[in-house]
Amino acid sequence: MFSEKRNEGRVGHASSLIVGRTAGRVRGRERLNVYYDEDADLSVLKNDIVAIVGYGNQGQAQALNMRDSGVNVIVGNVKDSYYDQAAKDGFKAYSIGEAAKQATIICMIIPDEVQKGVYETEIQQHLSKGKMLVFSSGYNIHFGFIAPPKDVDVIDMFPLTFGARVRERFLNRQSLGSFLAIGQDATGKAKQKALALAKAIGCTRGGTFETTFAHETEINLYLEQVVYPAIFRIMALSFDVLVDAGYPPELVSLEMYLSKEPSEFFASMAELGFFESAKVGSTTAQYGEMTRAPRIIKDDIKNIMKEHLREIQTGVFANEWALEQAAGYPVFNKLRKEGLEHPMNEVEKRVKKLIRPQEAQSKIQSG
Ligand code: NDP
Repeated sequence: MFSEKRNEGRVGHASSLIVGRTAGRVRGRERLNVYYDEDADLSVLKNDIVAIVGYGNQGQAQALNMRDSGVNVIVGNVKDSYYDQAAKDGFKAYSIGEAAKQATIICMIIPDEVQKGVYETEIQQHLSKGKMLVFSSGYNIHFGFIAPPKDVDVIDMFPLTFGARVRERFLNRQSLGSFLAIGQDATGKAKQKALALAKAIGCTRGGTFETTFAHETEINLYLEQVVYPAIFRIMALSFDVLVDAGYPPELVSLEMYLSKEPSEFFASMAELGFFESAKVGSTTAQYGEMTRAPRIIKDDIKNIMKEHLREIQTGVFANEWALEQAAGYPVFNKLRKEGLEHPMNEVEKRVKKLIRPQEAQSKIQSG
């Protein structure tokens, strides 16, 4: 594991601002470095061959964006439909080992849980001095599952959205951002090259925010393990409460998520602000939210949240997940099966059939 201090300050040449970490009561402060298009120079990659290892969600998007930005990109993938897709998209596609051998920059864009095995069998023997290893998530480096040699550069480039959006926003010239962490700078050029890669993907358009492997990984896991599950659990329990009380399950699902209203609400939050966005709702909605929120989720839940954070920080979660994988995913498969057997699945199929898609609506309008 890299020795990274939490909350460490870094000074850079790009826009820097001091941010308070807790609204009102500032507990800790850190200097935040943000980099934009003008801070990155694509020409530093002119002698590099970038191998995208894994042509999946993020891999395909990043490969296409980088190529459109003039970077020399090849693809490494198992020979199956993803491999065929890469070839169809016009890339030179190779086995993962061959791509790693040819490349000077190797981007590991396969699921976190398979990275260690692929690294050990196909990548590490080709990591000669001066090459760069790029991750789209700091997980394996931070928790020590992968320990690259000291004479290669290691970075974490974490785009702040799904692969499909990474491509869509690039093509539409929309704002896109990322986290960037430099784990190891063996060549003295790691940051320059990392920023060029960020620019090639399109991430310096919105802003590439410098962080550490520890912060990127732990914040991401915390959101996945505390914030989103809390929202999803409240929704699933609300389905039970409302349906048990006699409300039609179709209407409950429609209003709760099939209308896509929640995603629009979250988009408003990003645009208007966490509290300001409440104003997109009626005053009745605002009053209901403000008075009821603390009654539903009481402040002492923070103790449980802190416990989960500790499990992330101390590696308890990472070890548990590694053991689960080694055992053949018994808990994962059981819980996933239970979720897919929940009555909401049947209900949503019925409701989705009743919602007219935009294309059908457009056809009717155009006669
Ligand atoms: P995907 O599930 O889309 O990745 C699929 C790719 O991984 C395919 O090319 C697949 O090849 C390959 N792959 C899967 N298993 C293996 C294996 N055992 N051996 C070799 N190749 C394998 O993953 P994502 O793109 O979602 O995620 C990749 C990385 O990007 C992760 O580190 C993730 O944390 C990070 N990330 C993802 C984001 C997202 O939006 N999804 C956002 C930010 C970061 P095949 O099936 O052909 O073997």
